[in-house]
Amino acid sequence: MDIKVLFEKFKKIPLAFLPTPLEYAENLTKLLKGPRIFFKRDDCTGLAFGGNKTRKLEYIMADVLEKQADVIITIGGLQSNWARQTAAAAKKHGLKIILVLNGKEPEEYQGNLLLNSILGCDIRFKPYTDEEEQREEAGETPITGGIAKEVKKIGNIPYIIPLGGCNPIGNLGYINAVKELKKQLEKKSININYIISAVGTGGTQAGIELGLRLYEMNTKCYGISISRHIKPKSQEIADLCNQTVKYFELECSQFSPDEIVVNYDYIGKGYAIPTNKCIEAIRTVAQIEGVILDTVYTGKAMAGLIDLIKKGKFKKNENIVFLHTGGEIANFAYNKFFK
Ligand SMILES: *Cc1c(COP(=O)(O)O)cnc(C)c1O
Repeated sequence: MDIKVLFEKFKKIPLAFLPTPLEYAENLTKLLKGPRIFFKRDDCTGLAFGGNKTRKLEYIMADVLEKQADVIITIGGLQSNWARQTAAAAKKHGLKIILVLNGKEPEEYQGNLLLNSILGCDIRFKPYTDEEEQREEAGETPITGGIAKEVKKIGNIPYIIPLGGCNPIGNLGYINAVKELKKQLEKKSININYIISAVGTGGTQAGIELGLRLYEMNTKCYGISISRHIKPKSQEIADLCNQTVKYFELECSQFSPDEIVVNYDYIGKGYAIPTNKCIEAIRTVAQIEGVILDTVYTGKAMAGLIDLIKKGKFKKNENIVFLHTGGEIANFAYNKFFK
């Protein structure tokens, strides 16, 4: 199917403020004396403080409503931006939401957890393993399956959304974002060489890779991973791209892992453990651009970008779009790193 036809057939539910701004980060560009850097402000999608997940949810919620589900079930970390945006999307459409958050209930509610409480979610604190999380991603639902049964028993219709909205329907969000970005760049007569994005589940990068190919853009996506995985992320992202091509029968060639670039050099000790360079990058960008990044994703991605520029990875005459995927709400739960 042609991508244009797909977007005419598969209508999204509006949840985000689009298009998000594309702004030239002049001070950061000057400071680093490297390529020109632009920020794509997907932190400004707006839904309960926004972030990249809102774009995926515009398509996933369309499917939820089409299936007439009335209870959404999903999983995430204690400070999951995904959980918060999904909760807001559910509430906006009058649906119940059950969140399974990975960990013990903290004494104090902060950041995303605070917002999830305000949003009136049914929150279940349950530590789960990486293996269980991977099985969830594969659709086996060891965590959410039991809850879905419970929901059905009382006569409701559950809808399980995988972690991060990482599936073919969710991928449409970033295919659409590339279309939006292409238009903005054409208006400003700018050609970009790279899109830099933090990589969690890899769904965002998969959508970008698909979008770049479908809209025939001569731009590379450069992912910066913020967590370690059992399988290489480039493999998972290529698989996800191919699944999406198959699911929607898109007119698009197959993806292979060696075409997908994911850097693992800026993770530090692990997921959600801030590195010194990450904290430094957050402070730098805040103090010269007035833009707030986050400790889990965009701070690490920015630390990577700054280091890669210093190492001469990008040419001075190149243009880079740094995708600001949001997440700054979680900073309130990481306050001790900023004292
Ligand atoms: C989820 C998230 C990401 C990563 O997106 P994936 O599609 O899971 O790779 C990046 N930044 C922020 C702020 C996020 O919440």
